[in-house]
Order: sequence, then structure tokens, then C-alpha cells
Amino acid sequence: MLISLHDINKKSVTKIVEFAITASQLVYNNEEIRTLEPIKVTGTVDVTEGVAAVKLTAKTRLSETCSRCLEEFERDLVVEIDEKIAEGGEEEGLVPVQEGGFIDLKDVVLNSIYISMPIKVLCKEDCKGLCQSCGTNLNIRECDCAPVDEDPRLSALKDIFKEV
Ligand SMILES: [Zn+2]
Ligand SMILES: [Zn+2]
Repeated sequence: MLISLHDINKKSVTKIVEFAITASQLVYNNEEIRTLEPIKVTGTVDVTEGVAAVKLTAKTRLSETCSRCLEEFERDLVVEIDEKIAEGGEEEGLVPVQEGGFIDLKDVVLNSIYISMPIKVLCKEDCKGLCQSCGTNLNIRECDCAPVDEDPRLSALKDIFKEV
């Protein structure tokens, strides 16, 4: 959805915004963002003297892979967007204004979703991950591997894994 920063006779215009983005696969830092349903966007855009105040809520449902246990899981994503966009604004994270003074709200939404994504996604806060020896998913069952901290060399390794 395109919003013009110039095409107004009045000093100020408020637009009620409601649209959906149907992209099912988005690529972010070489990782896919897999949406299970269209991204629903609602909100308002106020354009006053070439500055757009964008207030939107974007909702969708994601399919993700836990970076610790590698299981697939789903989660709801809600992103609140509150940005001011002006031509010539070079601030980081802002979507560039297109030729002719247009901003594409789709870009604004996708940009905000990208920024909101955590670097490491976990299926749950206390995910136990996979056994480093046999690969068992420790959320599902314990394995019979010897505790790794009996060997000081492995103990150092374990500390490294703790940070993951
Ligand atoms: Zn997990
Ligand atoms: Zn094991």
C-alpha cells in the first residue's frame, strides 16, 4: 500500500489503513521467515507537511525452528509499529522514501518484522536442547550418556555450550 507524502491539498491527512501481506516466505539474514497466514496490518497513517506518522499493528503466525533442539514450532507474532517517515530522513531502520515521495507500507511492515526477530529462536525459554553425544532431544526424554562434566576438557566445552 503506497502512501504519498506530497499529494495533499490539506495541511494534514489521516488515513485508516487495513491490508494484508500474503508473502509466505520472507528472507531475512539468509534465514527464512515462514508465515503460516497472511500478515494482517491495521492502523493509521497521518501525513502532515511531508512527514508520515505511521502507527500500525501487524499480526501473523510463524513457523520457526528452535535453534537449540531443532524442533519446528509455531508462534504468534504481533509487531507494533510507531515511526515517523520523512523524505531525506537517513535514520537507520527507516524505509527509504520512493521517487515521487511515496512510501510503501508493506516495506515499513516487513522492515519492522525483520528488526523484531530474535537472533536465536527458542521453542521455550528452558529448552533443554539436544544431547551433545547422542543427539537425543532432552525435552522428550533423558538419554543414557555419561555426564560430560566428569572430564575437565569436556567441562570446558560444556561451558561453551551453556552460552548457546
Ligand atoms: Zn527447543
Ligand atoms: Zn545422549
